[in-house]
Amino acid sequence: MIRSVVCFFAHPDDETVMAGGIIALLTRQGIPVHIVCATRGEGGELGEPPVVPRRDMLGAAREVEMRNAARALGATVEFLNYVDPTIGLDDVPYPFQADFNTLARQFAQIARRRQANIILTHGADGEYGHPAHKLVHRAVVYGVQQMLPHVLTYTVAASVPHVEDLLWNQSEIADLALDVRPWGSVKIAAMECHASQHALFKRRQRLKTLREALGLVESVRRRWPQTHGEAPRDDFAALLRTVGAWEPR
Ligand SMILES: [Zn+2]
Repeated sequence: MIRSVVCFFAHPDDETVMAGGIIALLTRQGIPVHIVCATRGEGGELGEPPVVPRRDMLGAAREVEMRNAARALGATVEFLNYVDPTIGLDDVPYPFQADFNTLARQFAQIARRRQANIILTHGADGEYGHPAHKLVHRAVVYGVQQMLPHVLTYTVAASVPHVEDLLWNQSEIADLALDVRPWGSVKIAAMECHASQHALFKRRQRLKTLREALGLVESVRRRWPQTHGEAPRDDFAALLRTVGAWEPR
């Protein structure tokens, strides 16, 4: 039985981009889902047109966007107050500054407080290589192994069929992939809340509309406890299978 799910992500919008369909599936089953955002994404784009006139106002604006997106997904949200560094002119993303052990302990304490028995987070490759995503991944896995070894931990990603290679995190092949079109209207409603990032979503995939840029195949890999190449057989994997998930390998 899935009692409660906690999701750990680096920035507002990661939850919707990577896992909006799966979160909607869970919340519509009556399963509580809590999203933890390490930063407010204050280093991201201001939007086209800008949602705020000055960069120092972006974090507050993205917090509102994130709260609206969480409501659309049927989830709750909290922020950890780390600061997302501004993307440089070279377009290179950076991780946020954090003490690794403190971060890992914070993640584990939140999961414990929420009585989570499933955790969702970024992949080891940071999906497309984002260092803040990789940092969150490492800290979540370390915190779980040290403090909550009985809690199942999955990494999540999403891809746009026929546009991106199936499934990011190339060094960890997904255990299960799910066509999330049945929850697509919820995912698009949540995406619409992240207005400051719409231009980025479309540019990243060279697509014209937000709807086209929606990752309609979401994928998961069980990171802890490790499965040693076996397809996972647990309550989360079973739920995904009952709604049509397949093994992509
Ligand atoms: Zn991110």
